[in-house]
Formats: sequence, structure tokens, C-alpha cells
Amino acid sequence: MKSVFAFMLGLFIAVSIQAQTVKPPKESAFDRFLRYVKIDTQSAEDQTTVPSTKKQLVLANLLAKELTELGAEEVNVSEFGIVYAKISGNLADNLRVPVVGFIAHMDTSPAVSGENVNAIIHKNYQGGDIVLPKDPTQVITAANTPVLKELIGDDIITADGTTLLGSDDKAGIAEVMTMVDTLIQNPQIKHGHLAIAFTPDEEVGGGIEKFDVKHFGAVFAYTVDGKSLGMINEETWSARAAVVTFKGMSTHPGMAKGIMVNAAFALGDYLGRFPQDMLPETTEGRVGFVHPYAGVADIEQSSIKVLLRDFDLSGLDAKEKMLRDMMAQTQSKFPKVKISIAVEENYKNMKEVLKNYPELTENAFEATRRAGLKPRLEPIRGGTDGARLTFRGLPTPNLFTGGNNFHGKLEFNSRRGLEKTTETLINLVQLFAEKANPNLKRHHKN
Ligand SMILES: [Zn+2]
Repeated sequence: MKSVFAFMLGLFIAVSIQAQTVKPPKESAFDRFLRYVKIDTQSAEDQTTVPSTKKQLVLANLLAKELTELGAEEVNVSEFGIVYAKISGNLADNLRVPVVGFIAHMDTSPAVSGENVNAIIHKNYQGGDIVLPKDPTQVITAANTPVLKELIGDDIITADGTTLLGSDDKAGIAEVMTMVDTLIQNPQIKHGHLAIAFTPDEEVGGGIEKFDVKHFGAVFAYTVDGKSLGMINEETWSARAAVVTFKGMSTHPGMAKGIMVNAAFALGDYLGRFPQDMLPETTEGRVGFVHPYAGVADIEQSSIKVLLRDFDLSGLDAKEKMLRDMMAQTQSKFPKVKISIAVEENYKNMKEVLKNYPELTENAFEATRRAGLKPRLEPIRGGTDGARLTFRGLPTPNLFTGGNNFHGKLEFNSRRGLEKTTETLINLVQLFAEKANPNLKRHHKN
């Protein structure tokens, strides 16, 4: 018993000493975050250029400058405003460890203004609702926000009620930058070569098309663009889009008898066939949907655009078949209307590829546990830049950032959210090094 106690005490002291020997970063994730959210980087829909807004380049150039000052290598901003950088490994044989990439996006959602963000720090949160000071109708309620219970005693960061906060994804940027800062300050923390990228236009879906996977140079990557502490995403929707077209015959309504074929009625019949329990407004979690979201009702030609979403390809196939069967039923009721459907593939569930790389999720889970957090998987009811990269040969799950309530005025993050995510990233790069070099000592706080 005694020897076990002595051993435990020794271990405790060793771990404590190790913890003390980690030099703090030059700037905390919290302070970095507060600086970055002040820079307006809102992206815009329907632009032909990348980045969609020039103002994103202000942050891109600042990050490139800061990365260079921290000691990152090969720092550059591409013609599309993507910031790339490399961090050299500090192992005897770096080539044994896969190059791991970290990606966060610079833009904020076009849905809500990101101009003049005035971050409010709610120190030592003690529970209850959080009223945003500049617009008291904007309230983060404890009832609608279960995660608040985990934030008692934390310093919560919100906007003032007039803008979004921009935690999505400046939290990810601040966390990756602080990881880089900490690693460069602490050569005793062992890791292989790392690749860093900050991308524009994630919210409008254009930036990642310009991402140069080869230039980036990573074997695996993580987007740091997720939600509450511990939440890891390795699944996204598989997504298709359909357009159903109804062709009729138009003529002067005064002489239309027996001639006119009004395609709008066939469209109406078709819409009436959508099952009410298979819509975005009636589904959640792992349940997919069909979503007729925009269309034209006209005599000569009517049409409806439909989104199809499911986590399983078989489920997606079934939904497509359903749309076709509904079309056949409408067709037999309206034989004079010519009905056709065109379906295109949008993106696929990244799990289809990531299932072949289980170590990516395993390492993320272990890194999260080492930060004292509880890891958990959540499927994303949407697409991510990582999903697109995964299908371009760079397997890329998504990690949490500590943030919540994205794309709205009620967005928030916290001091602990930023710190613990940073700690998880540092644990993660060590894990990849440890697995390739089993004799490497752990160097982490417990
Ligand atoms: Zn995001």
C-alpha cells in the first residue's frame, strides 16, 4: 500500500512539475479572440470572386504577419486570401509522424452584421438568463441553452445584442494561433510537422474550392469550427438537390377551353404529396429530410427545387425514389402536363471516407479526455469545408471551439471554451507524435 502511495505521489509531483514547465503563450487565446472579433470579416452571397468581400483580407494579412512573428515557416496568403503556414516538427525523425493540418475560417455569416462587434464579458457567470445590453430583447435563456449549466463560474463572451459575435470561427483561429504560439515557446512539447490554414468564404461555400490541398501539405487535417467543448464531428449529411419541372400549355384565357394546360395545378398536386413527417421543420438528430424550398408557379412552366438530406446513402436513395414515385403519381393525374426531374449530387457524408481513418477520431477523443473534457460525437445537419476536403483526399473531421448559437446575435463562447480547446489541440499534436514514437514521454496537464 505504502509503495503504491509513494508511487502515486511521485507521479503527481512529476506531472505537476511538467505542468509548471509549460511556458505560457505570448498572448492567451482569450485576448487573441477579443482582438480578432473586432475585425469585420463578413462574407457575401452570390459573388463571383474569392474572397467574396475584400475586408476578409485585412484579417488574412494580420494573421500572416502574426504567424511570421511567432516563428511559423512558409507563411503566405494566396491570391484567394487563404493563409497557409508550416510549423516544423521537433522530433528526431519528423517523417515518422503524419503531417497534421489545422484549418479555421476567417469569414462570418452574411446572416447578421459583424461590423463594430463589441464583445461583452460576463465575468464569473452564476446561472440564469443573459440579457444583451444594447438590445434587451436579445436574451440567451437558460431554458433554451442547456450548455449554460456547464459554464457556471466561467467568463462568458457575447456580443452586445446588435451584431453576431464571430466566435464562428474566430474562436477556431484564436485557438489554432495560441496552439502555434505555445508549441513554439515550448520545444519540450514534441510534435511532427504541422500545416496551418485560415480560409475565407466558408459561410458562402466558395473558399474551399480554392484550397490547394497539395500546397497545404498535410496528410490529415482537422477543421476547428465546431460547437460546445467535447463535441467532435465526423459525419455530415449526404446531400442532393432536385428540380422537378412541369410543362403545360398557355393560351389566351378567353379562348382556352380544351386547349390550356395549367402546369401550376400539377405543381400543387405534387407539393401536396410531400410527407409531413419528413421535412426540416419536423425532423432532427439523425433523421433526414426532403425540403421543397423555392419554385415558380406558371401556366406554361412550373418548377420546384427540392433539397434531399440523409446521413446514409441508402436513405438518400430512398428519398430520391420517393420524389420520383410522387412524380409518377402526379403524372397519372395530369397526363397532359409533361413532368421531369433532374437530380444532382451536392456532397457526401464524410464518414464514408473517415471510417477508413478511425485514428483521427480516436486521437481527437483522447486529446479531449486529456484536457479533462468528455468527448462525444454529433452528426452535423449540414456540410463542412472538411467534408469537401475529405473527398478531395484530405481526411478532415471537425473539432469543437467552445462556441454556441452560431450565425445569430445570441452567439457566445467563454474563457474556458477558448482555453480548453487550445489545450486539446496541443494534446492532439503530441498524440500523433507519441503514436509514431511509443517511447516519447507524455507531456500534458492532467
Ligand atoms: Zn464556422
